[in-house]
Amino acid sequence: NPIQRKIVYVPKAQYGGRHTVTMLPGGGIGSELMNYVREIFRYCGVPVDFEIIDIDPNSETNDDLEYAITSIKRNGVGIKGNIETKSEQTGIISRNVAIRNELDLFVSVVNCKSYPGVRSHHQNVDLVVIRQNTEGEYAMLEHESVKGVVESMKIITEEASERLSRYAFEFARRNGRKKVTTIHKANIMKLSDGCFLETSRKVAKDYPDIKHNDMIIDNTCMQLVSNPQQFDVLLTTNLYGSITSNVICGLIGGAGLLSGRNYGDHYAVFEPGTRNTGSTIAGKNIANPFAMLNAAVDMLNHLGHTQHANAIADAMYETIVTDKIHTADLGGTASSTDCIQNILKHLDGKNISW
Ligand code: ATP
Repeated sequence: NPIQRKIVYVPKAQYGGRHTVTMLPGGGIGSELMNYVREIFRYCGVPVDFEIIDIDPNSETNDDLEYAITSIKRNGVGIKGNIETKSEQTGIISRNVAIRNELDLFVSVVNCKSYPGVRSHHQNVDLVVIRQNTEGEYAMLEHESVKGVVESMKIITEEASERLSRYAFEFARRNGRKKVTTIHKANIMKLSDGCFLETSRKVAKDYPDIKHNDMIIDNTCMQLVSNPQQFDVLLTTNLYGSITSNVICGLIGGAGLLSGRNYGDHYAVFEPGTRNTGSTIAGKNIANPFAMLNAAVDMLNHLGHTQHANAIADAMYETIVTDKIHTADLGGTASSTDCIQNILKHLDGKNISW
């Protein structure tokens, strides 16, 4: 019964209650942020071991990628930074997209909740972007039919749209959310976005307790900038989801703050919400570590290590809200390591048992 669909499989712990998780640091600031995650996990004895895999963005083969995918299939769970794909490398597929497609991670969930006291364009935002993660404009089906004429296919299927819509309404119901808004461009892309919109309307009928409406992507961007508090759950296709989550992250604190979760029926992969590489700020001890740490907390919650997740999330909250230790992207003067030291200070003496 698709309505009763278990949201995602959670791997059983191994001997001693430990889990193994695949870690893909990615490019730019990825490896320094992962080092902070490992430092904090070590400090509070989190029962998680990492299998670390570096993917070489310049590799001509996909051996690293295949190894990474096999590892996530074995462990069931991954945490990743953004893997660089240079836009001029036309023959090379995006490894980020390939991982999501290969593992059938059909949904991306980004919780966009304001941190009080963080410099931002809006306060009191609490919305969730639920994005189709494996088709749409990311089908990677592009070709030059004749010189100077490029065709790029956007694939929308009723099956994937229904699966995603059900996920969104189930998510709303289970998380006490009141409204789902389908974001689309069905006035122009009448068949593709029309299919997505109509499917979400059909699914909405099975959830009379959740309000449903829809909005065109252009207007959504304007509404997000002017009045984001009106939204609750946004349900959308792949590229619009990337745009809307980046807009909203930018409005409430930027790329360094929020996390994103990618789920399929069998696997889950956690990462920073805006999926940036941050190559221009790498190695300078200025990157905001919060987005990756939030991804790590999401991962611990997914695995059922809730005590550790709560302790780390509380220490992060104290650091950012009470102590106001903010990196430059949030208008502060703290370094990445200042944030980590302060989080460790709050974790000190906490008796975490499992
Ligand atoms: P690239 O183009 O190679 O991806 P970039 O640094 O030029 O690297 P993005 O990775 O897309 O660009 O990042 C967009 C912006 O967000 C950049 O200004 C980057 O410095 C900033 N950013 C990304 N992650 C963080 C972070 N964790 N802390 C602070 N700023 C960040």
